[in-house]
Amino acid sequence: MIKRPMLPSDERGSTKASRPHVPESEEGYKEMLTPEEYAVLREKGTEAPFTGEYVHEKADGTYECKACGNPLFSSDVKFDSGTGWPSFDIALPGAVESHRDGSLGTERIEITCARCGSHLGHVFDDGPTSTGKRYCVNSVCLDLEER
Ligand SMILES: [Zn+2]
Repeated sequence: MIKRPMLPSDERGSTKASRPHVPESEEGYKEMLTPEEYAVLREKGTEAPFTGEYVHEKADGTYECKACGNPLFSSDVKFDSGTGWPSFDIALPGAVESHRDGSLGTERIEITCARCGSHLGHVFDDGPTSTGKRYCVNSVCLDLEER
């Protein structure tokens, strides 16, 4: 089951009028997203490694949720993990939620957008930096807002 997205009250009066809103229903997500984006974000799919547009992206900016525009990761913490997916060593404060995921027979931690609940990827404890974390994220879940 997918939880109904809840907007924090401070979203009201936001000046980010150009950003997409959180759709009110699954139909809304289907209309807004491509079939591949929908399969990953809303059905917890995984894009094929080394296929995503942001795997080798080096531009500066903020990676936002493709579904709702929630800022998720800074390009400052992106690193090349060699896995074929964009990887980050920390998320922006409060941007993502983590959930236990035993779907592949191994215990993994799924990460979802804290605003709209869309699936993003997984977080692992083998990061190479001081945070020790490796946020492994599907490119199709992200939208880079360059600065
Ligand atoms: Zn979102």
